[in-house]
Amino acid sequence: MQKAILGKTGLEVSRLGFGTMRLPISEDPALANRRDDLEEAAELVVRGIDRGINYIDTAFGYCGERSEIAVGMALRGRRDQVVLSTKLPMWRVECADDFPRFLEKQLEKLDTDHIDCYHFHALNASHFHDRVLKFKLIELAQKYIDQKVIRHLAFSFHDTVAVMKEIIDTQAFESVLCQYNLLDRSLEEGIGYAASKGLGVVIMGPVGGGRLAFSEGVFEQTAGLSTPELALRFVLNNPHVTLALSGMGNAQMVDDNVRVASGDTALSEAEMAAIEEIQARCAELKNIYCTGCAYCQPCPVEVRIPDVMQSLIYRKVYGLTTAAGNYYAQIGDRFHPGKMASACVGCGQCETKCPQKLPIRERLKEAVATFEQK
Ligand code: SF4
Ligand code: SF4
Repeated sequence: MQKAILGKTGLEVSRLGFGTMRLPISEDPALANRRDDLEEAAELVVRGIDRGINYIDTAFGYCGERSEIAVGMALRGRRDQVVLSTKLPMWRVECADDFPRFLEKQLEKLDTDHIDCYHFHALNASHFHDRVLKFKLIELAQKYIDQKVIRHLAFSFHDTVAVMKEIIDTQAFESVLCQYNLLDRSLEEGIGYAASKGLGVVIMGPVGGGRLAFSEGVFEQTAGLSTPELALRFVLNNPHVTLALSGMGNAQMVDDNVRVASGDTALSEAEMAAIEEIQARCAELKNIYCTGCAYCQPCPVEVRIPDVMQSLIYRKVYGLTTAAGNYYAQIGDRFHPGKMASACVGCGQCETKCPQKLPIRERLKEAVATFEQK
């Protein structure tokens, strides 16, 4: 397993981290007292540790708030072998006292007396200003750092490069966790900035939240690699990236990812040039399909137009057939409320609002034919 130093934390970490948001754990509240699924999940984490992974990442809310319990079970007798990362759910922090309340609960669930890398989860401009700064959470975190309950303060991030730099410039954080992959390089400049300021850089979603997890599409066989392998190597090839987290849900995924991260992950200049040529071509094409601006929303019958368009982009532009179908199938679930394309009644309101003047109704028909008619 390749190793690297996690910025100014000085911790030596494996370049593949175990993301535990996809552990095979039931999220049904009625089954919250089950133990068998937690034991199975813990075994999976142990499998990763036995194969050289030493960075284990979880969060308060993962897997119906049960991921931390499984991680705690996995670390019994192995606590000193790993760098344990977890996160404070910022969207649930309504006052300063919520921080110690969550932290105490997390220590209990994780069955430990310290967290190596404690993240403010999902920072954006609003969470940073209206919660972290307003409730003086950095100062509060320092108290726990002094007590060695928290060893290193970090943040996970979903916003623009400018906001990322603003947070880094507080000099309060030693590591950052953010999105970066073959389909989304929007934070690349921020990643370089973080590294230049001595922060460890941890990447989530190296396979684009599962969209690059299948052997298909425009990147397949670039550098002679399958899409999932290329995706992981692309992330690890960035010299500013310390490690990539992969959300692993079965033994095969653990073994496949460990194999990639244990070998030579470097990509040659010619291979990177080939990737960039594909990315540039797709970026041009996808803007013809839709820029994702969402000005067409809301639709009177709640069609999730940007997600429908995004599904078409994954399928038609990137050739990610399985991923596109999965993305489309999420429309209407609790995280993606709204309707699929077949709900459109053809009123045309969306087309009057679209800055790209896209033939939205025509595209929706294409989506129905592609994803809804078998
Ligand atoms: S044309 Fe269809 S998708 Fe567009 S606003 Fe009307 S109902 Fe909604
Ligand atoms: S307004 Fe047009 S470009 Fe913007 S999300 Fe809707 S369809 Fe896409």
